[in-house]
Amino acid sequence: MIVRVLGSAAGGGVPQWNCACVNCVAARGGRAPRRTQSSVALSTDGKRWLLLNCSPDIAHQIEAFAPLQAPRLRGTPIAGMLFTDANVDHLGGLSVLRQHGTHHFLLRSSALVRAIALAQPSFAPFGRPPHRWLECPLDATSEPHDPDDLVGNRLIVRTIPVVGTTPGYNGRRSARGAVVAYEIFERGTDRRLLFAPVFAAVDDVLRAAIERAELAFLDGSFYSDDELITLGLAAKSTRLLGHSAVGGPDGTLERLRGVRARTIFTHLNNSNPMLDPSSVEYASVRERGVEIAYDGMEIAL
Ligand SMILES: [Zn+2]
Ligand SMILES: [Zn+2]
Repeated sequence: MIVRVLGSAAGGGVPQWNCACVNCVAARGGRAPRRTQSSVALSTDGKRWLLLNCSPDIAHQIEAFAPLQAPRLRGTPIAGMLFTDANVDHLGGLSVLRQHGTHHFLLRSSALVRAIALAQPSFAPFGRPPHRWLECPLDATSEPHDPDDLVGNRLIVRTIPVVGTTPGYNGRRSARGAVVAYEIFERGTDRRLLFAPVFAAVDDVLRAAIERAELAFLDGSFYSDDELITLGLAAKSTRLLGHSAVGGPDGTLERLRGVRARTIFTHLNNSNPMLDPSSVEYASVRERGVEIAYDGMEIAL
């Protein structure tokens, strides 16, 4: 399986258009890498691709990665998408991909995420033919649906509900299925990829999935619970925004003790001090052997 990080930032990216925090200024000035909003592309043959979330930056991400570009006059190697939740930075790319030709997309999410997304006029066309938006039953395994599905019938997906809320535009309600993680493996192998870019806590179910994984992408949005408050960027805590902080006694790093999987933080908010390689926060992550995703990162699994 080829695993390609298309984008590694949380909503807004780095730099964010209306922000002049130290990380955004460093990225704008070329002293730190630019990051687009988070998404991962998977393929088993390098020809057909499955997107894990589809960010509003998808058009730029396609232009930055030749295997996702049109293979003929009109067409796309993107066969399908999985959505972890209904936040605009995770499925807003759908409103960019409106010029459908003869191709169709096979989309998958929890039933709740599908209902929230399809109630939005800009996403509603993706619930109708030629597209199909399938429900991923929670705590269950989805086999491919047809020969084109899940990149040529090769991938099997297990949907893991995680602690989280619906998006701000839906009232940030705590609900089962509002956010999920995906455990993905190729038929005939047991090397599991875990994609969990959003969660409000590492509960026992998520911790067990991280332990089963060979490679795990995890929510690295914020380092501390009061990050946005301290920086004067917002009055909301990390937990209230539906994320688990990386650091601190209850943080994700502590919950990763003893895990043998290769773990990578992604979905980094531009406020996050661990974006700066000279920071103590960056050092604390690297000391534990955890990596930080970047746009263009590619891993063979
Ligand atoms: Zn996000
Ligand atoms: Zn910023």
